[in-house]
Amino acid sequence: MSKIVVLGAGPAGCSAGYHLAKSGHKVMLIDKDCFPRDKTCGDGISLGSVQALSTMGIYPDDIKRLASEYAQIDGFLLGVSNEISHLCPTELKGYCIPRFVFDNLLYQKAINAGCVARTQRISDIEGYHQELYSDFDYIIDARGVYAGEANAIAIRAYWSIKVADFPKIYLSKAQIYFDKAFGVNGYGWIFPVAVDSELVKLNVGVGVWLDEYQKNNTNIIRLFNEFVQRNQATKQLLSLVVSQQKPKAYPLATAKRANTVSYGKVFKIGDAANLTDPLTGEGIANAILSGLYVTQAINMSTSPELASENWQRLYQLYFEPDLDAGLQIKSFRKFSFINKLLIWLMNRNKPFAEQVTYTFAGLIPYKKLLP
Ligand SMILES: Cc1cc2nc3c(=O)[nH]c(=O)nc-3n(C[C@H](O)[C@H](O)[C@H](O)COP(=O)(O)OP(=O)(O)OC[C@H]3O[C@@H](n4cnc5c(N)ncnc54)[C@H](O)[C@@H]3O)c2cc1C
Repeated sequence: MSKIVVLGAGPAGCSAGYHLAKSGHKVMLIDKDCFPRDKTCGDGISLGSVQALSTMGIYPDDIKRLASEYAQIDGFLLGVSNEISHLCPTELKGYCIPRFVFDNLLYQKAINAGCVARTQRISDIEGYHQELYSDFDYIIDARGVYAGEANAIAIRAYWSIKVADFPKIYLSKAQIYFDKAFGVNGYGWIFPVAVDSELVKLNVGVGVWLDEYQKNNTNIIRLFNEFVQRNQATKQLLSLVVSQQKPKAYPLATAKRANTVSYGKVFKIGDAANLTDPLTGEGIANAILSGLYVTQAINMSTSPELASENWQRLYQLYFEPDLDAGLQIKSFRKFSFINKLLIWLMNRNKPFAEQVTYTFAGLIPYKKLLP
C-alpha cells in the first residue's frame, strides 16, 4: 500500500483517486475549489466517455438517477454554417451534463471509494510544495490544462429557451458547425444540457486551435459573437432565449507529439498530460481512462521508478497511437473546403456518414480512418 496524493479533482483526478483507493492505497485528493464547482466545458459526454465512465462503476442508469440536470444525445448534426449539413442519428446514446453536476458525481465516487479530500491550491510542486515529495510515494498531477500545454481555446454560454419554442428534433441532438471564421479545425456547437417540462438549457460555444487562431489575428469573444449573429440556427435560437449566462472562455490542452507523461515520482494525467482529442477537443474520456491506467502502472510496479516507466509505456500503448493519428488527420485538413466536402459525402453515403459520426462521438479510432 502506498501513500499517494492526487492534485486536482476533475474527471482525471477523481478517476485516479477512485481506482487507487479501491486498490487499497492511501489517497489524498486535493483541489483548489470546493465541490460542487463549475468547469467551463461543452458538457458533452461522448459515447467514448460513457464507456470510460463504466470503469468507475457509473452506468447510464446511474446518470439518469443521480444527475440533477442532463440531456440524452442520440445523434449529431454536422454542418458548415448556413451552407450544408447532415443529421445522423446514433443507436447508442451519449449525454450532455453540466460539469457542475457531472464532476460532482465523480467526486462523490472518489470520496466514497476512500479518498481523503482537502481544499488547497498547489501551484508549484518543485518549489513551494516540495513537502509533497517527502510526504507521499507518488504525486498524481491532474490539475488540468494549466499543468499541461494549452494549444486551443474555447468559449461557452448557457441559454435557456422554452421547450415549446425549441425544435423537438434537436432536443436530443448535438449540433456542430464548421465555419471559415474558426479556421479549418475549429467549430461552433449547440448542445442541449438539461431538458425539463418547461425549459431546455443549451450550451452554446466555439472552440479554435491556437495555431489557426493566432494566424487569423482575432479573439474568441468576437468569434463567439460572429457564431451567434451569423449562424442561422444560433440567430434563431437567440431570439427565443428567456435567460442566459455570460460566455466564459477557457484553454484546452489537446494532444502533442513526443509527449512525456511522468517525471520522477510525478505522474501527469488528463489535461495535465495533454490527452485531449486533437480534432474534437473532447478530453473527458481520456481523462477518466488515464486515471485507470496510471493506477495499473502503479499497481504493476515494485518501485516509483518502475511505475514511472510503466505509466509512460501504458500512455504509449493506449493513448499515443490514436492521438497521433488524430494529429495526422488534423495536418491533412489544411483547407476549409474539406469540411464542406466531408458533409457533402456524408449526405450521399450513409455508411460513411455513420463512420464519421461514430468517430466524432469517440467510438471509432482515428487509426481506422488512415490508410
Ligand atoms: C470550453 C470547453 C469545452 C469543452 N468541451 C468538452 C466536451 O464537450 N466534452 C469533452 O469531453 N471535453 C470537453 N472539453 C475538454 C474537457 O473540459 C477537459 O479535457 C477535461 O475537463 C479534462 O479533465 P481533467 O480532470 O484533466 O482537468 P479539469 O477538468 O480541468 O480538472 C482539473 C482540476 O484541477 C483543479 N486544479 C487546477 N489547478 C489547481 C491547483 N493549482 N491546485 C489544486 N487544484 C487545482 C481544478 O479546480 C479542477 O478541479 C472542453 C474544454 C473547454 C475549455
